[in-house]
Amino acid sequence: MAETALACGRSSDDVQLVAATKYVSLELTRQLFEAGCQDLAESRPQDLWPKAEALQDLSVRWHFIGHLQRNKLARTLPVVTLLHSVDSLRLLEAVAQWADHQQRVVRALLEINISGDENKHGFLPSDASAALQAASQLPSMRIDGLMGMAALEGGPDRARRDFAALRELRDCLQAEHPSASLRELSMGMSGDFREAIQEGATLVRIGSALFEGIAT
Ligand SMILES: *Cc1c(COP(=O)(O)O)cnc(C)c1O
Repeated sequence: MAETALACGRSSDDVQLVAATKYVSLELTRQLFEAGCQDLAESRPQDLWPKAEALQDLSVRWHFIGHLQRNKLARTLPVVTLLHSVDSLRLLEAVAQWADHQQRVVRALLEINISGDENKHGFLPSDASAALQAASQLPSMRIDGLMGMAALEGGPDRARRDFAALRELRDCLQAEHPSASLRELSMGMSGDFREAIQEGATLVRIGSALFEGIAT
């Protein structure tokens, strides 16, 4: 990650590793934290809950990166630093309602379906501005940027194009909504984090590449 950042004229501090721990045991998750990785992510609430509870003694910053059903948000949000995956207006409103009740502010990203894959979650790029507008009316929500995944097929060129599209969308939204602060771009995984960093990722979500060759 650092090499890629430097090679494209960015500082390695500008790109944060978020380790996806869904493949590994509690013990390995703890070791990862102890090795210096404090930003950890889960994509299923039922995997996050027991891990967060068992690792309460550590100052893990938990990220949530998967589809969140509204009936699971009350158990999930209290332990989460950043919700990467607000993928519908219904979820946005439900999160805001919960946050209002708790008298807290939730930091989140809008998940955008950049690759156009019908099986993927996320707002269509053309709906993102309305979503941001809706969020701006919800004082308990703070939208810090966008999250997206590249198409599975098409290789590095396609991934790079998808990531560039997410960055361009962010730039357009920022210009349209000057009171927003869309500094985060959560994009890139084990197979395409280099392309993501080249296109401006600030958070890369990496799982399998961290654990290659390790019995999980
Ligand atoms: C699992 C997961 C990742 C990490 O994937 P790898 O290819 O193993 O690095 C990233 N983002 C999301 C949303 C995931 O569910």
